[in-house]
Amino acid sequence: MPQIIVITTGGTIATRRGPNLAGAVPALKSEDVRAMLPRGGADLLFEEFANLPSSHFTPVTTLDLSRRVAATLERPEVDGVVITHGTDTLEETAYLLDLTLRSSKPVVITGAMRAATSLGYDGLANLAAAVRVASTPLVGELGVVVVFDEELHAAAEAQKIHTQSRAAFASPGTGPLGRVEGERVWLARQPIGRQHIPCQRIEELVDLIRLTQGADVRLLRHSIEDGVAGLVIESFGGGRVPPWWLPHLTEAIQRRTAVVIASRCGAGGLGDEYGYVGAYHDLRRLGVLFAHNLSGPKARIKLMLALGTARGLSELRGFFT
Ligand code: ASP
Repeated sequence: MPQIIVITTGGTIATRRGPNLAGAVPALKSEDVRAMLPRGGADLLFEEFANLPSSHFTPVTTLDLSRRVAATLERPEVDGVVITHGTDTLEETAYLLDLTLRSSKPVVITGAMRAATSLGYDGLANLAAAVRVASTPLVGELGVVVVFDEELHAAAEAQKIHTQSRAAFASPGTGPLGRVEGERVWLARQPIGRQHIPCQRIEELVDLIRLTQGADVRLLRHSIEDGVAGLVIESFGGGRVPPWWLPHLTEAIQRRTAVVIASRCGAGGLGDEYGYVGAYHDLRRLGVLFAHNLSGPKARIKLMLALGTARGLSELRGFFT
């Protein structure tokens, strides 16, 4: 029987409502979850890393989690790891783990949209599916996998796309990697171009700014004047900003701020054929970095890791080509 370590971190999957509580909070213990899971299939060992809502996580906490998972994967008796996590920032944790871990053993992350004391608690079904996926050796070749509502998603692609639905995760633009159907795991494709950033520390001073129609530059100015190390701009479409943003982006780059352009579309590569002011060609000329196919929050995680490890601009650029 494969040995799977379930590392718990909190989130709705571990929440329950108590008589004296104002609302549901992470309180479910590993023993409670284990008692509810069907027996057989895998030898499960639960270990607690934290018991937090994922809105209380920071990338520094997540880098610690990555170290913990790496150490767990090195244990020869361990065949795979499942992480239970809040859904709110699950996609960022999944991607940070994917960039920092290097193992051929399966690493799966899951959560739930309903508290354990609610009707329709989805935590057990998601956890059972995640264990099934983590017990499938081939999954080790996919990097970190998000398992939710019977679907498998690549860490770089998964996004929380619904505030309430139990089908809360999707891979916009690409679709899932596969599905869990009862006992079976169906794999449809493999993510290509996965990256590894061997990182010991993270640069925390990285801002994300989302462009909106007619957006003025106050937020951008604030970040520049604060001296942030990195800035991610969720630009329009395939990489476009309003003309009045260009001088400020130029100044940021002159001040040696790493500027990364992502798209607010949340899927797809960057590039266009336009010749007007503020389009892709202008951004390219400025020397910004491009985060192809990454959402803004994931581009920020990548920049935090890349700035934490790169010893110069060319190494930093290497992570974004
Ligand atoms: N508040 C929860 C969290 O920790 C939401 C969830 O898990 O669905 O992210």
